[in-house]
Amino acid sequence: MYDVIVIGAGMMGSAAARHLADMGAKTLLVGPNEPGCKETHTGVFASHYDQARITRRLDCKPDWARFSGRSIARYGEIEQAGGQAFFHPVGAMIAGPETGEGAWLINGARKVAADQDIPFEDLKGEALQEQFPFFDFPQGVVGLYETGTGGWINPRELVAAEISAASASGADVYRDAVVDVDYSADSVSVTCSDGARFEGGRIVVACGPFSKMEGLLIDPIPMKVYARTIAFLEIGDKEAARLKTMPSLIYMPPDLSYEPYVLPPVRYPDGKIYLKIGGDPVDIQLETVLEMKDWFRGPGNSDVASFLADKLMGLMPGLECRSVTYASCATSFTPSGGPLIHAQSDQCVVLTAGNGAGAKCADELGRLGALVATEQDLSGEGYECDFKT
Ligand SMILES: Cc1cc2nc3c(=O)[nH]c(=O)nc-3n(C[C@H](O)[C@H](O)[C@H](O)COP(=O)(O)OP(=O)(O)OC[C@H]3O[C@@H](n4cnc5c(N)ncnc54)[C@H](O)[C@@H]3O)c2cc1C
Repeated sequence: MYDVIVIGAGMMGSAAARHLADMGAKTLLVGPNEPGCKETHTGVFASHYDQARITRRLDCKPDWARFSGRSIARYGEIEQAGGQAFFHPVGAMIAGPETGEGAWLINGARKVAADQDIPFEDLKGEALQEQFPFFDFPQGVVGLYETGTGGWINPRELVAAEISAASASGADVYRDAVVDVDYSADSVSVTCSDGARFEGGRIVVACGPFSKMEGLLIDPIPMKVYARTIAFLEIGDKEAARLKTMPSLIYMPPDLSYEPYVLPPVRYPDGKIYLKIGGDPVDIQLETVLEMKDWFRGPGNSDVASFLADKLMGLMPGLECRSVTYASCATSFTPSGGPLIHAQSDQCVVLTAGNGAGAKCADELGRLGALVATEQDLSGEGYECDFKT
């Protein structure tokens, strides 16, 4: 009999389990390992099966800057408790026009930085060009450059660190997908795909896009899931050395034609080094779990990948790219743009909706989920969002 069963051993769920165990709750974390072969996998998937996610405090949305700031401040503690490094503080930059229709990104981030005391360098014109000669930004683009707290994290390694730290604090971990939750008795009963059953006083559903799966939550949630394609541009060691000062980049081009994000050189498990670009110009909604599984099993959208790769070559002229590959992923959005972290009943807590930004701040979102699961109020935590819409 557990105090809390966290369903979903992903970015938010693993963090929630660590915080719950540290709070002294008898905790079980349930969720499958990453599938060996995604093309033939019939079970659930995650949005963090990758080597790199951008991390930064700078944000034009105040709450997301707070979520990230509080998480980043704990990265060292998580790395130590979990025995696994995952943070690469290579710097992060938000670039875009400071006038015109797209100026909201830069001006919004400057305001949040001022309000929350986030240090950054405001780079323009020649200073921007000199610092990052490999980018060819159009006239009028400025860059807000964050060092120390900006860069990228390895999401797989962050999850591994959280799970290892949660275990060290006494949480149990069971590696399988949950297929049914029974709320009809005094305690909640959770059944896994292999037939294993567990009882708990309360459950936390932290299954990313799959939180919408029937049989997990009590009520439907206002969350839409979108198909995403990312393009990987392979580069060699020499090119990676040339780009060694490249920061993670969030970019708003003055023509507002798309909103890309770019990861600096990262070595992948195949031994190769890639730059990654995402930011689909198209939004395709995945309505059902079957559609989500089909999308994750597939390769992604080749047209989107070509578009993104061309744009990156335009932004980084002279880039010595050896090949372009691409992959599928999915992001979950709410109407308010905030995460969903609240109790649906005495027995059921929802913890999901990263809004495309939930990796870097998953530890804080998990902590908030742990507070709700232990019947603590979020109103004193200093956030503006209602965590419900
Ligand atoms: C292409 C892409 C790029 C992104 N880039 C960034 C970025 O640069 N920076 C950033 O901060 N964020 C980024 N994000 C967002 C970030 O990855 C997500 O917000 C984050 O992964 C959400 O965490 P989660 O725990 O909600 O979901 P997930 O990471 O998907 O974890 C959910 C977990 O639940 C498990 N699960 C599902 N169903 C069940 C079930 N029935 N039983 C048990 N377990 C189950 C899954 O196996 C998985 O482990 C990006 C997302 C995508 C797709």
